[in-house]
Amino acid sequence: MTTRKDAKPVSDSKTLDNLSNETRAFAPSKEFSDHAVASSASYEAAEADRLGYWADQARKVLTWDTDFTQTLDWSQAPVSKWFVGGKLNAAYNALDRHVENGLGDRVAIYFEGEPGDTRTYTYAQLTEEVKKAANAFESLGVAKGDRVAVYLPMIPEAVITMLACARIGAIHSVVFGGFSADALRSRIDDADAKLVVTADGTWRRGKPSALKAAVDGALAAPGHTVENVLVVKRNAEPVEFGPLDKWWHEVVDAASTEHTAVAHDSEHPLFVLYTSGTTGKPKGIVHTTGGFLTQGAVTHRDTFDLHPETDVYWCTADIGWITGHSYVTYAPLINGATQLMYEGTPDTPHQGRWWELVEKYGVSILYTAPTAIRTFMKWGRQIPDGYDLSSLRVLGSVGEPINPEAWMWYRDVIGTNNGKNGERKEHPTPIVDTWWQTETGAHMIAPLPGVTHTKPGSAQVAVPGISIDVVDEAGESVGNGEGGFLVIREPWPSMLRGIWGDMERYKETYWSRFENMYFAGDGAKKDDDGDLWLLGRVDDVMNVSGHRLSTTEIESSLVAHPYVAEAAVVGAKDETTGEAVVAFVILQTEPAEGEDVVATLRNHVGKDIGPIAKPKHVLVVPELPKTRSGKIMRRLLKDVAEGREVGDATTLSDSTVMSQIAQSMGK
Ligand code: ATP
Ligand code: MG
Repeated sequence: MTTRKDAKPVSDSKTLDNLSNETRAFAPSKEFSDHAVASSASYEAAEADRLGYWADQARKVLTWDTDFTQTLDWSQAPVSKWFVGGKLNAAYNALDRHVENGLGDRVAIYFEGEPGDTRTYTYAQLTEEVKKAANAFESLGVAKGDRVAVYLPMIPEAVITMLACARIGAIHSVVFGGFSADALRSRIDDADAKLVVTADGTWRRGKPSALKAAVDGALAAPGHTVENVLVVKRNAEPVEFGPLDKWWHEVVDAASTEHTAVAHDSEHPLFVLYTSGTTGKPKGIVHTTGGFLTQGAVTHRDTFDLHPETDVYWCTADIGWITGHSYVTYAPLINGATQLMYEGTPDTPHQGRWWELVEKYGVSILYTAPTAIRTFMKWGRQIPDGYDLSSLRVLGSVGEPINPEAWMWYRDVIGTNNGKNGERKEHPTPIVDTWWQTETGAHMIAPLPGVTHTKPGSAQVAVPGISIDVVDEAGESVGNGEGGFLVIREPWPSMLRGIWGDMERYKETYWSRFENMYFAGDGAKKDDDGDLWLLGRVDDVMNVSGHRLSTTEIESSLVAHPYVAEAAVVGAKDETTGEAVVAFVILQTEPAEGEDVVATLRNHVGKDIGPIAKPKHVLVVPELPKTRSGKIMRRLLKDVAEGREVGDATTLSDSTVMSQIAQSMGK
């Protein structure tokens, strides 16, 4: 069965060949739509007056000390200025104003540590902690514009540190706690950080895991700019203290709870954050204040249908990724939401931990990544079936294209669960697949729950006020039913303002491929309704006998086979076909005795999407190389498939995976 159009001659093959035949679609329930925050009116308002829409939203979701006089200044393109002349304080917006508005007793953060310890912070309490931290940082000589490196686990102090920086106008640079001393040092040096905030350690898989030692390693060689290291006591493992080191509980706890937030310019830098490194060396992305906060808060409200008085929101992303910045630290607090923060791994002490947390805290909005969903599929539905997930109302996905089968599983197993006794919901919770990047700062493509007819595997439509297109090699819009390059046609509030210290690289990386369009690096197609499907990185697009094939569609086909838990597809140089499809798969079920799994899977893909997509090689491997944020690093697999030395693997979550793969291939 295939819906592929007839092959075009090579020279004519400007766009990706569409292979997928996914046709399922789900209308929103009336029950949901009746109470939805968003409506089609947002699209209409944004379409009628895009800048007017953003100006209205900026005034609606934020409290400005000084109102802005111009919504967008694009005269220095591709560097934008949003809400020009406006002044505000991010921490005041996230905290103090809620307390002033009588919401001081609302829970801001429920924290659950991996060992099961818990803490609850109301808005009033969190405001106080941030004020103390702001005073403490200032007492350590940190001033507006200085950089602070944050190397912390998923504990409330991470959010407190980021907001304390924002309060005083210092620029945070969060480095994922799993990164090595070298990765930390290169990021400290790149930003000339003055202060490092870290912890003695954290808990991973039931064991204490050290952090401070990596900071010691990072700062061992001279020549850095760090003046102080502030250490949160988390797991009480012994740490070595040097002349720069101070305990958080000594410095911050002693600080005053009085601190007045001064307003900063709308374009004052809020943070620097490095990309995941999926496609190469990470880039230090710069975000500023007014635009970043506006688009984050608006999308958090609309994409997740946030009702802050009743919802309990849980985003499982680490603070070290953009998702943790936009949708843990900033947007939920700006919106006055109650959120859950969990320190540890999903399988500690058992594989039902997440679902136990959903049940315990009554989580109503869950936002996670496809890699997690595929892992839960592999562990089996009997685990979530054993918990009461009836509180869930909206499910989100981010980070990679979500395979239609994973989407359906998310809907059927998680989104329909109405209690431990097997009761099912009449209306499954909507699923929102959100496409965006470190560079975009906030959601760019996502359905709106209660409004959009959702389709498994499609991120669907640009959010209101965002102008997305799919173009061919020449930069011309493709028609419905065609694929090409995903671009952004108009500047947007939460867009990056540059790459830290390298404006040329900013222009070259994002603005040189097509004139006046931001090119994101991803391939996409428009289906017959004009809905958007993300097809993976264009660097990963394969050219097999003149057909341009996407990794995502072949991977989704493999994942739909009951034997396969996860799949990664790459193109490897091939003498006859130009490139050949090579698939790496992790199995979830033992195949029948004597069955040739490789042949079965090759035939499955051939039948599912067409003979041209049939992998030349299928390699069964124990693990796939993933970034610490859970994305598959195809470029490393391509190196393997083409017999090369593997490239930059510094952001790999498990450094042994590549040798495990080599071993399984008998190398
Ligand atoms: P680097 O730019 O260093 O290679 P990265 O692109 O992985 O790293 P991120 O900014 O964390 O860094 O990831 C953004 C990318 O993640 C997008 O460009 C896209 O490829 C992918 N992505 C994120 N969300 C989705 C989604 N919902 N559907 C499809 N792809 C997604
Ligand atoms: Mg990227």
